[in-house]
Amino acid sequence: MDDCIFCRIAGGEIPSAKVYEGKRAVAFLDAAPMSKGHLLVVPRAHWKDLAAVPGSGATEEERAAYAEVCDVVRAAARAAVEVFGGGANVLQCTGEEAGQTVGHLHFHVIPRPKGGKVPPEFVSGAYRYADDADRAATAAALRAAIAKAL
Ligand code: AMP
Ligand code: ZN
Repeated sequence: MDDCIFCRIAGGEIPSAKVYEGKRAVAFLDAAPMSKGHLLVVPRAHWKDLAAVPGSGATEEERAAYAEVCDVVRAAARAAVEVFGGGANVLQCTGEEAGQTVGHLHFHVIPRPKGGKVPPEFVSGAYRYADDADRAATAAALRAAIAKAL
C-alpha cells in the first residue's frame, strides 16, 4: 500500500533503524520509544491489525508471514532481556479504541530494564464484572467468537 508508512518502511522507501530484515517480516526502533530499545515488529504484507489476519482460511504464504512475525517477536523479547537485563512487554494495539495509530499490524516489544517499576497499565484489577452471570456470559460470548475466528 503506497500510503502506508510501515509498508514503506518495510520496503526501504522510508528510513528506519532496522534490527531485523527477513523475507516476510522486519523489525525496527520505534521513533517515539517508551523505553530504550523499544522495537516494532511488522509483516511485510499489509494487514491493518491483528483482527485482520486470516485464520483457518489463510494461504500458506499468509501462515508463513504470520509465523515469522511471531517468531521475531519472541526473538526480540529474548534480545531485550539479553541486551538490557530485566524483562520486556509485548504490546499490540488493534483498533483506535485500543490506541492504534498506524493501520499496519505491528507488535511493540518494550524492554523493561532491571530495577524499573511495572508500568501502571499492566497492573490488573481495573475492571470488575457485575456478578457471576455477567462473567459467565462474557466468557461464553468470547468462546463462541474465538471458535469462529480460528
Ligand atoms: P500504535 O499506537 O500501536 O499504532 O503504534 C504506532 C507506533 O509507531 C508508535 O509507537 C509510533 O511512535 C511509531 N511510529 C510511527 N511512525 C514511525 C516511523 N516512521 N518510524 C518508527 N516508528 C514510527
Ligand atoms: Zn502497510
